[in-house]
Amino acid sequence: MTVQIFGLAVAKGVAIGRAVLVASGRVDVAHYFIVADQAAEEVVRLTCARDEVSAELTTLQHDLPSDAPHELSALLDVHLMLLHDEHLVSAAARWVHERHYNAEWALSAQLEVLARQFDEMEDEYLRERKTDLEQVTERVLAALKRQSGGDAARIAAPKPQDFGGEEPLVLVASDIAPADMIQFKRSVFKGFVTDVGGPTSHTAIVARSMDIPAVVGAREASRLIRQDDWIVIDGDAGVVIVDPPPIVLEEYRFRQRQLQLEREKLDRLRHTPAITLDGESVEMLANIESPEDAAYALDAGAVGVGLFRSEFLFMNRGNDLPGEDEQFEAYRAAVLAMKGLPVTIRTVDIGADKPLERLSLHELRHEHSLNPALGLRAIRWSLAEPSMFRAQLRAMLRASAFGKVRILVPMVAHLSEVRQTLEALQRAKQQLRASGCAFVDVEVGAMIEVPAAALMLDSLLRHFDFVSIGTNDLIQYTLAIDRADEHVAHLYDPWHPAVLLLIANTIAKARAAGRAVSVCGEMAGDTLFTRLLLAMGLRSFSMHPRQIAPVKQSVLRADCARLAKSLSAVLQSDEPQAAARAALGEAGA
Ligand code: PEP
Ligand code: MG
Repeated sequence: MTVQIFGLAVAKGVAIGRAVLVASGRVDVAHYFIVADQAAEEVVRLTCARDEVSAELTTLQHDLPSDAPHELSALLDVHLMLLHDEHLVSAAARWVHERHYNAEWALSAQLEVLARQFDEMEDEYLRERKTDLEQVTERVLAALKRQSGGDAARIAAPKPQDFGGEEPLVLVASDIAPADMIQFKRSVFKGFVTDVGGPTSHTAIVARSMDIPAVVGAREASRLIRQDDWIVIDGDAGVVIVDPPPIVLEEYRFRQRQLQLEREKLDRLRHTPAITLDGESVEMLANIESPEDAAYALDAGAVGVGLFRSEFLFMNRGNDLPGEDEQFEAYRAAVLAMKGLPVTIRTVDIGADKPLERLSLHELRHEHSLNPALGLRAIRWSLAEPSMFRAQLRAMLRASAFGKVRILVPMVAHLSEVRQTLEALQRAKQQLRASGCAFVDVEVGAMIEVPAAALMLDSLLRHFDFVSIGTNDLIQYTLAIDRADEHVAHLYDPWHPAVLLLIANTIAKARAAGRAVSVCGEMAGDTLFTRLLLAMGLRSFSMHPRQIAPVKQSVLRADCARLAKSLSAVLQSDEPQAAARAALGEAGA
């Protein structure tokens, strides 16, 4: 039966594929594709793990003290029966053979199928057996983890060459932590759907950076979609269509082809200089999350990296955070890949919806700090971990010997933070000099992403060489809207007059002070805002590499002098979006 599910459109385009359902509680299980030849071996892993658990349960039952309640033995009987039911391991083996899932993934996929059947049972006693099934499966998953030495507790990014199947796949989950999402980069998944998340949650940002259609905040999606269902993800409308009829499918396939043609046309602009009709040169920079992204940035026509989110090097590592040398290698790799173009590395922005450990938004909100976005995040966390922070600064400075590095400090709000940061940088430099390590003097910039920073810009400009406006957080903190919360996503409004005023003032003041200013939040990569930002005087945009071509197209068609004349009409309007459409004339605005 065809079902439509509505959510938030966060990454444009159309994806059509079979659903791979990953329950958030089991996202921690290894998920990767095996090659077809390994299927028999993988099924042996599965049956060995089942036999190990069977032996475990039998021993437990055997060792029960004579006075143990009868129910305990009966419960173990139920667990043994479920364990040996052909609907569990034998059915999981089919996922291995047919879809080439690894054993853990196959088993959790089958658990999802069975759990749903239990949920639909009329009989309450039988329905409650779902918990037993989950417990038994957890035991088998634990046995599989032991077999693989315990290092499989991550979602391994499936690469196209790992995938033996022919049908496209899309990922459906209640929630995907940014740390997991990053592992899906350049994987086989053609689209993403999650129950939770807002338009600029980091999960959505990573999806956009992959240029893969995504719908988040689709509340019931992971409940309504079943393993292996055919689904269409309409990333423009924010709709997911489950089990679409042939005519709908054909329509979407047609749109997919059209989008592909448009994309190919835009790609021809990749290496065209971004100069407006009135001759203003505009810098098109890239946002990257890993050193490997640098090559994609260059290929997309970026003239530098405006934001390297270094925190992605720190996530999912347990206590094993990257040390100075490992970071140095990563920064140097990015710098070398950019072939002399500038690389702006942001000091670690851990916290809020980017925790160090792999936690779902639900866990973050309910089991950790009440308000992580207002907590120990970004520069606050770095200053609370001085030796980690100095190691990161040293690694960045050392990379500066190999190309043009700039350091960017996230979430600055207090002058005391500025002072401590600059002191830490001086200490890092002294330490490098003492140990004879080469580095050059680097420019240091502040992210303007807290209203306080925008309002005290004059003071900040006395300490920093450049500023970069983080509109994602600036909107979140100005409007008091959790950017990751789908319940308030409708209030997350980049067009809010207060937000526009803060951005316009920041650009104007930085320019007046002779300091470089760019925007590296999602607004920079959204063509809806290109003309408005140009009108405000912005000449440096930093965005996901794939957005460079469309934004450049808007730049090439713009006349900055003419746009600037209409700016005040937009800023003074109660309806800035409508005013922008009328005064700036951008089709999308
Ligand atoms: C921002 O806040 O706009 C930004 C670029 O940083 P992040 O999205 O990583 O918080
Ligand atoms: Mg930010």
